[in-house]
Amino acid sequence: MNNTYFPAFFLLLLISTMISLSAETLANSPSDKIVIAHRGASGYLPEHSLEAKAMAHAMNSDYIEQDVVMTKDNQLVVLHDHYLDRVTDVMDVFPKRFRMVMGKKRWFAIDFTLKEIKSLQMTEGFTIDPKTHKKKAIFPERFPLFKSTFKVSTLQQEIELIQGLNKSTGKNIGLYVEIKAPWFHKLEGRDISKVTLEILKKYGYKSRQDKIFIQCFDPEETRRIHDELFPQLHISLKLIQLIAMTDWYEKVRFVNGKPVPYNYDWMLKPGAMKKITRYADGVGPWKPMLVSDQSTKEHLVFTPLLKEAHAEGLLVHPYTFRKDQGRIPAYAKDFYDLLDIFLYQLGVDGIFTDYPDLAVAFIKGKEN
Ligand code: CA
Repeated sequence: MNNTYFPAFFLLLLISTMISLSAETLANSPSDKIVIAHRGASGYLPEHSLEAKAMAHAMNSDYIEQDVVMTKDNQLVVLHDHYLDRVTDVMDVFPKRFRMVMGKKRWFAIDFTLKEIKSLQMTEGFTIDPKTHKKKAIFPERFPLFKSTFKVSTLQQEIELIQGLNKSTGKNIGLYVEIKAPWFHKLEGRDISKVTLEILKKYGYKSRQDKIFIQCFDPEETRRIHDELFPQLHISLKLIQLIAMTDWYEKVRFVNGKPVPYNYDWMLKPGAMKKITRYADGVGPWKPMLVSDQSTKEHLVFTPLLKEAHAEGLLVHPYTFRKDQGRIPAYAKDFYDLLDIFLYQLGVDGIFTDYPDLAVAFIKGKEN
């Protein structure tokens, strides 16, 4: 070994140590925590409206969420449910075009063309009061029902809005796309995951470096996306496995005509994260799966899920953080305390929230 080589070797060693140290410091710094605008700035404007997305962009969310469902003419629209009746006037405009599902009338997006869907007024989420038969807002403190003008938008329209705002503001705000109910679309003869990924590819989302996450509640489909669709389309994007409770019927199969929900129990048992890490980059659990509802203000009970996910190198992005009346669990003093418990006492990597401005400001305040 000659004289010049020796110090150079140590210099390299020193630099690489510094790089790995700074990477570690970064990984632990609060600025790494991400805020996902859940259906846009949905605490202020109707969920999934382009207006709610523009507001979330202005609020500096790190990511803005899209839920994607398919129309009769194979277009992708941004809607939380694969039916239209919770957030539009479809039942007034097309009163007969429903299906009966588990004793309830539902107007499915897949039964309407994009043109028909575009003719509807979109609004805040509502239910029908069983006594008065009138529409009743699910969140009464939010934007009033059927005021101003909002429309269902396509996935392309939303991508163009976010990419356009990224250009005009110089920001780089990401997409967080949920593929909704692949099992349902498959029953209708459609491959929603493939169509979604093809559109994303066309708009430049191809690699793990691109600012995008794909999320899905269906573990078989998430695996298929990773194992089959990514190689087929020559892309590779970051994937989040969402975790549901079995009785939510997020994924369903039919036995003798009766719906049987997919059993999610295995995802909350030891060893599950090891299985998920093979095909996903992270998990999206429901808040009580991380902080038990048995918790009190004096005694928080954390489940083992976060530790097990982090041990497997998985990100943890729980849902949904809302400040509305009745939405703060009893163990938290207020919305900010709830954020503090999850982001800093437990240590999740990001959160889905209807109030991205408050979460962005909270994280910023923690840094100073
Ligand atoms: Ca979603």
